[in-house]
Amino acid sequence: MAKKQFKAESKRLLDLMINSIYTHKEIFLRELISNASDAEDKLAYKALTDDQVPVDRKDLKITIVPDKEMRTLTVSDNGVGMTREELENNLGTIAKSGSFQFKQDLAKEEKGEDIDVIGQFGVGFYSAFMVADHVTVVSRAYGSDEAWMWQSDGADGYTVTQCEKDAPGSDVIMHLKANADEENYDQYLETYKLQELIKKYSDYIRYPIVMEVEDYRQKEKPADAGDDYKPEWETVKEWKTINSMVPLWQRQKSKVTAEEYNAFYKEKFMDWQDPLAVVHTSAEGAVTYKAMLYIPQKAPYDFYTREYQKGLQLYSSGVLIMDKCADLLPDYFRFVKGVVDSPDFSLNISREVLQHDRQLKVIASALEKKIKGELVKLQKEDPEKYEQFWTAFGSQIKYGVVADYGAHKDNLKDLLLFWSSKEGKNTTLEAYQGRMAEEQPYYYYACGESVDKIAKLPQVERILDKGYEILYCTEDVDDFVMQALGEIDGKKFKSATAEDALPQTEEEKKAAEEKAEEGKPVLEAVKAALGDQVKEVRLSKILKSGACCLSADGPVSLEMERYMRKMEGGEHMKAERVLELNADSAPYAALKRAVDAGDQDTVEKYAKLLYGQALLLADLPLEDPAEYAQLVCSLMA
Ligand code: ADP
Repeated sequence: MAKKQFKAESKRLLDLMINSIYTHKEIFLRELISNASDAEDKLAYKALTDDQVPVDRKDLKITIVPDKEMRTLTVSDNGVGMTREELENNLGTIAKSGSFQFKQDLAKEEKGEDIDVIGQFGVGFYSAFMVADHVTVVSRAYGSDEAWMWQSDGADGYTVTQCEKDAPGSDVIMHLKANADEENYDQYLETYKLQELIKKYSDYIRYPIVMEVEDYRQKEKPADAGDDYKPEWETVKEWKTINSMVPLWQRQKSKVTAEEYNAFYKEKFMDWQDPLAVVHTSAEGAVTYKAMLYIPQKAPYDFYTREYQKGLQLYSSGVLIMDKCADLLPDYFRFVKGVVDSPDFSLNISREVLQHDRQLKVIASALEKKIKGELVKLQKEDPEKYEQFWTAFGSQIKYGVVADYGAHKDNLKDLLLFWSSKEGKNTTLEAYQGRMAEEQPYYYYACGESVDKIAKLPQVERILDKGYEILYCTEDVDDFVMQALGEIDGKKFKSATAEDALPQTEEEKKAAEEKAEEGKPVLEAVKAALGDQVKEVRLSKILKSGACCLSADGPVSLEMERYMRKMEGGEHMKAERVLELNADSAPYAALKRAVDAGDQDTVEKYAKLLYGQALLLADLPLEDPAEYAQLVCSLMA
């Protein structure tokens, strides 16, 4: 019979599985058991929501059968099964869930980087080909009386033929590869090994995973045994449930070990690293629920993309009703993974109804408090771990501060960290407040590409000289965060580059005015030379040793312009530029001499030079780099 070909992606995945040198091949069993459990779930769900499906949940189970003679290992379930089309569609193509991740990592793998992708992400059914050279799936869909057999030797294709099967469900029959030097496949036929793997990876599967195991035990004493009877031993085979089944979140907190929490997380949420923190909580009364929440160590690779879906798994008394219930998590905590189990939800509740469910809202808000509490605790008790959290998810928290017109800023501000000029490391706003002298007029911040660059900005000098602390902001979103925060306890946030960042005394004001008056001819000459490139040229009140800098008038700040430049369609959002000159600097003196001498050529040259420098310092592109280079060179000649 003609073989059908796998889709291109599937073929590549299969090739990878077949030729895998991956050391944790054993995870294939976890993957198949998890598929079997999903199939049971689907049938259980059908039964609960449809009177026409008289299935008792108690009868659902997963069976593992090793056969040493045939060299096969079979994983069977009595779940929903698959129709012919489903066999073709589901096993002939990479399933949607794993595929996106996989494609990305396949690219990585081809570049010769590690093959550990298999361990990091579940690769599902195809992992069978890591240990088997021939795989047969016999399946009968619930409600159908036809059964179908899918068979494949690997990447060269598969066949689907009709067959017989007594009951609905699926059997995945793996014919194990021959032992190789570096790989022992025989072990997957040993009950003790299989038991170990089930315990390790699939202990919380909610259906019994049964296997026939050998037990060595004392024979019953015969009724007619004499006084000199010696107990005899025998080996008996019996079917046993291997997994403990009780979901971890249903167990008492004090009885769950850190290892168990971590193992559960890694298995369920396909992370290969332990979580950073776990919150296991419950409530009874107006709403009843148990929840187990995890904060990952690192952001998943797709976290800051559209593909990433937030949400918690929602169970109703142990039955999964939604895989990613988005309404349980606010966006700014979208990195949290976990499960919520509440008997208060009906199983066939729809997404739409759930969205407006009052109970769900109550749970969501309680969980939000818990998550925040856990993060604050981490910040206080384990700053190092908190830094790790911040590196992974800090941006998300900042977006939370800015989102919805700052509606969540009060809730989130305790979680923020910024680089402190004083501490030389990250600080909380609370700690900044604690260090701040009474007379300091503002919370200062300065934005730029890197801490080093900001520290060298001409505008920050005078503020640092006063002994004031500045928060160095290196993320695009920071300027918006500061604007959203606005103030804390009446003290405002102020950009160190703002003209009025340091309040002036009356005397200073007067002196400045006099200077400005005096400098008028110079400023006008520079403005004339630069034309529309700048809105205004003025004497700086914020420079100390630097000769010039750029500032902005109007609603768009330079930080915003920089940010918008990176966005599509945002190129037109420009700040109104003001060139500020330092009247006490040597270049200014040179400029003045040229103006006084009426040397128009030199005035123009100097004006362009100073403007170019100001642009560079502000991390904005030069309008004409070639001209600027020429100007600088002409100075040397
Ligand atoms: P995933 O489980 O990530 O979706 P798999 O490659 O493991 O990817 O499986 C592909 C699909 O095949 C599953 O989504 C499911 O629809 C179907 N499938 C796999 N195993 C079974 C099974 N034992 N019973 C019913 N359907 C199954």
